[in-house]
Amino acid sequence: MYGAVRTLLECVGEDPNREDLLATPSRYAKALLFLTKGYQDNVENIVSNALFHEGHNEMVIVKDIKCYSLCEHHLLPFTGKIHIGYIPSGTVIGLSKLSRIVEMFSRRLQIQERLTNEVARAIMKVLNPEGVAVIMESCPLCMEIRGVEKTGATTITSFVLGCFKETSATYNEFLSLIDLNRK
Ligand SMILES: [Zn+2]
Repeated sequence: MYGAVRTLLECVGEDPNREDLLATPSRYAKALLFLTKGYQDNVENIVSNALFHEGHNEMVIVKDIKCYSLCEHHLLPFTGKIHIGYIPSGTVIGLSKLSRIVEMFSRRLQIQERLTNEVARAIMKVLNPEGVAVIMESCPLCMEIRGVEKTGATTITSFVLGCFKETSATYNEFLSLIDLNRK
């Protein structure tokens, strides 16, 4: 990867031998590996020992999970917040593990729609709950800094499964609890 980054520097008109740039290829390689470390992890590892069987069957919500990802179209960062709700069917998960699942899928090359979808499907798979809802709010930096979009608009994606999909009252309860319109 070192050589590839030197080539990139040349392509933008820089001299990779300029003193202040000498360490840049190795720094960039390290940063890129960190930003894509989610490929080294899997959901089964994350949830092991963190599933609890109990009778709780009320909606569980974790909101404002910060996430940092890389857009697969431009390799530029996008950041956002993910809100997760699920209704257990006998199995609950340690709440910090929901953040870890978000982290794992975020730290891969992504588009916001798939990230939202993958988090929801992973939770559905490991918990087999009555339903899952995932909403992501983000400011796609890759659009802003390329000059496509200068309004600072928020992009919202949602993906729902099970009872959230079937029962609008359940989905509406989730929406009011995460309070998307708050200032
Ligand atoms: Zn992009």
